[in-house]
Amino acid sequence: MPTITLPDGSRRSYEQPITAAQLAADIGPGLAKAALAARIEGTVRDLSSTIDRDCAVALITPRTRDRGVDADALQLIRHSCAHVMAEAIAKLFPHAKLVYGPPLDTGFYYDISFEGGRAISTEDFPAIEAEMTRIIGENRPFTRCELSLRDGLDKLRAEGSKFKLDNAERAREAGSTTLSWYATGVPGTNWEDLCRGPHVPSTGRIGAFKVMSLASSYWKGDETLDRLTRVYGTAFATAEELAAHLTQLDEAKKRDHRVLGKQLRLFHIDEMVGQGLILWTPNGSIVRQELQNFISDELRKQGYTQVFTPHIGKLDLYRTSGHFPYYRESQYPPVIEHEQMAALAKEGCSCGELANRLEKGEIDGYLLKPMNCPHHIRIFASSPHSYRDMPVRLSEFGTVYRWEQSGEIGGMTRVRGFTQDDAHLFCREDQVAQELLGCLSLVKLIFGTLGMNEYRVRVGLRDSDSAKYVGDPKNWGKAEDACRTAARTLGVPFSEEPGEAAFYGPKIDFVVKDVIGRSWQLGTVQVDYNLPERFDLTYVGADNQAHRPVMIHRAPFGSMERFIGCLIEHFAGAFPVWLAPEQVRVLPISEKSATYARELHSALVAAGLRAGIDEGNERIQGKIKDASEMKIPYLAVVGPRDAEGRKVSVRAFGTEANLGEIGFDAFVEGLTGEARSRGAETLRSRMGT
Ligand SMILES: [Zn+2]
Ligand SMILES: [Zn+2]
Repeated sequence: MPTITLPDGSRRSYEQPITAAQLAADIGPGLAKAALAARIEGTVRDLSSTIDRDCAVALITPRTRDRGVDADALQLIRHSCAHVMAEAIAKLFPHAKLVYGPPLDTGFYYDISFEGGRAISTEDFPAIEAEMTRIIGENRPFTRCELSLRDGLDKLRAEGSKFKLDNAERAREAGSTTLSWYATGVPGTNWEDLCRGPHVPSTGRIGAFKVMSLASSYWKGDETLDRLTRVYGTAFATAEELAAHLTQLDEAKKRDHRVLGKQLRLFHIDEMVGQGLILWTPNGSIVRQELQNFISDELRKQGYTQVFTPHIGKLDLYRTSGHFPYYRESQYPPVIEHEQMAALAKEGCSCGELANRLEKGEIDGYLLKPMNCPHHIRIFASSPHSYRDMPVRLSEFGTVYRWEQSGEIGGMTRVRGFTQDDAHLFCREDQVAQELLGCLSLVKLIFGTLGMNEYRVRVGLRDSDSAKYVGDPKNWGKAEDACRTAARTLGVPFSEEPGEAAFYGPKIDFVVKDVIGRSWQLGTVQVDYNLPERFDLTYVGADNQAHRPVMIHRAPFGSMERFIGCLIEHFAGAFPVWLAPEQVRVLPISEKSATYARELHSALVAAGLRAGIDEGNERIQGKIKDASEMKIPYLAVVGPRDAEGRKVSVRAFGTEANLGEIGFDAFVEGLTGEARSRGAETLRSRMGT
């Protein structure tokens, strides 16, 4: 009878088949109490599942052995909570028809039709939550029952829900031979829902939950089908985790870059210009320019040279690179020359034909560039290279265009045109590892300066059995090793992710954790043995023979749009002095100190600072309030007494009280130093606060 192998490698043999719950009890009462389900041969199953053959079993508890959150446990809790919410809603809204309720990364939702009766509103949430609390308090078991496909479909037809019937039909299409239900309690007596499972053993194991919000949706996402209401909820193993999650959501709302972008006048998206196309307004342009200057300074120190290239290129260029028609779906359609267009129109060429002939290369056109690489490659190829002048490092803040579905567009994080902090390194094979290290050290420096100290690195590798990769497997192996080595040397957490490589080479991705604990996927460094081959790039080696260079693509911060979107949220709009659009504002208390205020303002501007002055008639408290709404880092409040003593009363953003007084020249110098040193020296330290 079954011999069960546990995660620690120990084995237990039983005379009879045993349930996962019995196994947990046999191991110990603590585990029996904590177990939510079991991973049997890697598949998550109910605790009531019978084990009747030799297999590997791990019992799932809310916490992993190193006290982390078990992702499967969280999923089980959330999915089970979705059932409880659906039961509560079904009780309070007898006309409600349930459609589909999957777990999410942040909780779960249930799509429900309220047709033919009262619609749900957020005012119903307390009543729904009270009903859920009652169901959870009764600690009813989740009981699975199975029917044959035919009996199951009969049962659903009798119940008359086209939505559930459709779910079942899809299960049949996917190859299921049975249908299963989960009752919260006794099947036939208590509420039940068509579901594949698995679940936690009973409602009492759900932990802490909250009904979050409503949104409208359509059945199967199709606007021509039934209009549904999506009810969102979330659940965690403990009340503390739920509270932390809610705090994070609250904080995220305050930091939303779309809201702050408007409030601080950083960028604008205009329907007349086009969706997903960012207009950088003067304030946002300052942030971007300062950041670009910083990155450019560092690139220069690392031996990069800068280039500029146009926003379009011939289709043939992208046929050679493989970007066309390979990534057709994510590109704007090609642009065709006037004469060619006229000739095609005369022929009566249809759109379908045109697309076809463009794809086949029978006619040429231009593409809004989806990538900067081919342009940089042609720059490299435009002059001969010797092994001595390798590597060649070409950098450009290059704007590229990608077609995103309109539903996926939002703020600065998903756009249709964006500027990459791009560079291409053409190097000898023996230089790859060193160049990768250089790329990573630059990233480390820039993250460090911005106070983004928590980030990790993902190394994207091939999955062995996929045919989507191009190039020599031997070169792939070398490139993967170089990425691993570089990532390891950096000393930050990194993970290897098979199947995450680009089609032309392995890559290193950066994921930064912001101050409220959310992860942002930024840019990437990629090794490429493929494009040099496709473009037949060469350099002359020490042996006087032609050799193939290796290319490294690197845009470690991704795009300026996404990165600054991330920075706005990271700083909650309160940029450090060196990035702030307005670094300081002079606030005269009254007309009496106006002349002195103007003198101070002029001195600040002359020192190269972005200084403003508020000479309005408003009272000083009002002026301070206006300035703090724009999150200006420093305010120089000057009254007649300051004028007399040539002093400045300083306020910093985010502090209630004044920082104190400082002399006129020391103020200008202190602020200049803080801006120039990008925060390494601060005015505050100069003032001893
Ligand atoms: Zn379920
Ligand atoms: Zn590239």
